[in-house]
Amino acid sequence: QPIGAFFAAMAASQPDREALVSRHQGVRLSYGELDQAANRLASALLGLGLDKGDRIGIWSHNNAEWLLMQLATAKVGLILVNINPAYRTSELDYALNKVGCKVLVTMARFKTSDYLGMLRELGPARLPQLKTIVWIDQAGQGADEPGLLRFSELMARGDPQDARIAAIGATLRADDPINIQFTSGTTGFPKGATLTHRNILNNGFFIGEAMKLTPADRLCIPVPLYHCFGMVLGNLACLTHGATIVYPNDGFDPLTVLETVQAEQCTGLHGVPTMFIAELDHPRFGEFDLSSLRTGIMAGSPCPIEVMKRVVKDMHLGEITIAYGMTETSPVSCQSSTDTPLDRRVSTVGLVQPHLQVKVIDPETGKTVAPGVSGELCTRGYSVMHGYWGDEEKTREAIDPEGWMHTGDLATMDAEGYVNIVGRIKDLVIRGGENIYPREIEEFLYRHPKVQDVQVVGVPDAKYGEELCAWVIVKPGQVLAEEELREFCRGQIAHYKVPRYIRFVAEFPMTVTGKIQKFKIRDAMKAQLS
Ligand code: ATP
Ligand code: MG
Repeated sequence: QPIGAFFAAMAASQPDREALVSRHQGVRLSYGELDQAANRLASALLGLGLDKGDRIGIWSHNNAEWLLMQLATAKVGLILVNINPAYRTSELDYALNKVGCKVLVTMARFKTSDYLGMLRELGPARLPQLKTIVWIDQAGQGADEPGLLRFSELMARGDPQDARIAAIGATLRADDPINIQFTSGTTGFPKGATLTHRNILNNGFFIGEAMKLTPADRLCIPVPLYHCFGMVLGNLACLTHGATIVYPNDGFDPLTVLETVQAEQCTGLHGVPTMFIAELDHPRFGEFDLSSLRTGIMAGSPCPIEVMKRVVKDMHLGEITIAYGMTETSPVSCQSSTDTPLDRRVSTVGLVQPHLQVKVIDPETGKTVAPGVSGELCTRGYSVMHGYWGDEEKTREAIDPEGWMHTGDLATMDAEGYVNIVGRIKDLVIRGGENIYPREIEEFLYRHPKVQDVQVVGVPDAKYGEELCAWVIVKPGQVLAEEELREFCRGQIAHYKVPRYIRFVAEFPMTVTGKIQKFKIRDAMKAQLS
């Protein structure tokens, strides 16, 4: 079923239940109100001269307008293009032109970022296909100039009863593209994955099932909506289960998350590992009553076992699950469920999702490996993307003729089917012929009581091919010497696994989703060592 029809039916079944709380905007909408507003916006978008299949970008942090855009575009078959609010002019130029956006909805300003200013800088010469810029007036100071339209004004033009909505809705098919999402750019240049109604609606539903969401749940979503974590694991998991979406803020701030969970009596909380770490380590953490929490998802990057144990014990997240996936698979392919025994839940990414297949292959031969042996994880089924927008060659490299998406991730699967992600193929370190998984070293160093966070990468070495390097963030108020950390390793891990280079840093290079860009650590080390 297309998303618009599914949502309209859900809204009709429980019009008065709260659908959205956007705390920083002071916005609260019931399911009925959200559906009406989405219809109004869909009508207004058609009024801009857009047709089914046209691309429309959204370049914004989390807010009510974002969710409205997601639903309104789905109702009339427009393809929503999620654009990272951290993008600057050259990335924006690339993304908008790559997919040919005719309309862009954006914040006017955010903190020191002047979004309209950046668009002015690019101008019509560099954005020839962009006809209309809509700015969200709630989110900051904007400007009334020719070519710019206020979001509120756009909304006012729409008619929620517009007959075109039902007419177009009747022509939509589950396999129509509905969304283009760029990958995080953790390993290089972001790629635009084209996703369909079938891809993301089903994925959101099964994610919500694994979390056992019901209309009584209230899910706090501090993860960004422009990424599938917020849009699918957050928005769609809630909307397919009649639950309430709660946005604590427009950017991530650990204190606001803690305040929101308490004030809104949230039952669920999502986050990438670095977000949970920031919440747990916040000096005021102990002041908040988080006892309403039950479940949530940690995902997006390797989830350290110690962090999982802490959120279970200190945040009441006894039913938290880990999900594994990638933008190209809508995103989740493996997930533990609240029923998975806790030791399995903290140490694996769970089992394959219903109606999907996964296998672990030897990347050289393509043959499936034995249980417990590591190889490349591949996914097949309803969630595999349509393709990379405008890039058939990259699509062919990623999805083989049998429909398997090659993830580029190294994993093992045990005899019962539990999957463990050991790292990315690109991050595997081969030192003197010995395979080293940085993840294993990170887990070990993380156990040092003064270590707050740690990243391990391989750097080129004339003698061994590669050497290990650890970047360490020390806990606030603590002092840690290189020798002390080496001493900690001695006798505990093999000598070749002890990092040759140790650097103490204040932060890691990150995408705004909070994913650590190891290639930047490697580049910085290469520059330092050469
Ligand atoms: P790019 O493809 O542009 O380099 P990216 O792969 O980080 O960026 P995403 O699609 O956002 O872009 O992220 C998917 C990747 O995140 C997976 O391929 C995997 O490496 C990592 N990942 C996701 N969930 C988990 C998890 N639970 N444990 C370990 N790694 C994970
Ligand atoms: Mg990727």
